[in-house]
Amino acid sequence: MLIPHDTRIALDTVVDLVNTAPESEPPREETADGPADGLDGVAALYAFAERHHISGVGALGEKDLAAVRDVRARFAEVFAAPDPRTAADLVNRLVAAAGTTPQLTDHDGYDWHVHYFAPDASIADHLAADCGMALAFIIVAGEQERLRRCEAPDCGHAFVDLSRNRSRRYCSSRTCGNRLHVAAYRARRKEASA
Ligand SMILES: [Zn+2]
Ligand SMILES: [Zn+2]
Repeated sequence: MLIPHDTRIALDTVVDLVNTAPESEPPREETADGPADGLDGVAALYAFAERHHISGVGALGEKDLAAVRDVRARFAEVFAAPDPRTAADLVNRLVAAAGTTPQLTDHDGYDWHVHYFAPDASIADHLAADCGMALAFIIVAGEQERLRRCEAPDCGHAFVDLSRNRSRRYCSSRTCGNRLHVAAYRARRKEASA
């Protein structure tokens, strides 16, 4: 599957956004009031915008934080969608509410690509439009099942499986995949020596 560079970037952004939600955090992040929220304040939202080079967001406030958390919950639903039609309905609603304005641009030395967010969009609408269209691209390509949740028992991380044969099961082979491989190996050894 050939994915345009900007779509790939938007997919990275939406995965990271969904994974800031408390329900995506493994138990290690547990606090007194349950799992921590990766977007627990306006400062965290600024950090997120900077991490993903989200341009032209201007001054951010509590209203933006609430709106982004709301968009995040909608995106989490897309990752949980059981079939393409459900995912398509969710993306359609998200993108329509954001008021998209497709615009070709080659800003900052990037090749020509399309921005979907309106020029004066809030950060929530910006994310809903651009990340929503990136997910739309995956659905159009017939690849909705690549939008996954990690299969490790104590991890709920979202990820996009871009492997050739759609065989990826864990958010990260380095962390969850490796952890489970070690556990399976130990279990086999124990069985063999019993
Ligand atoms: Zn751009
Ligand atoms: Zn995981």
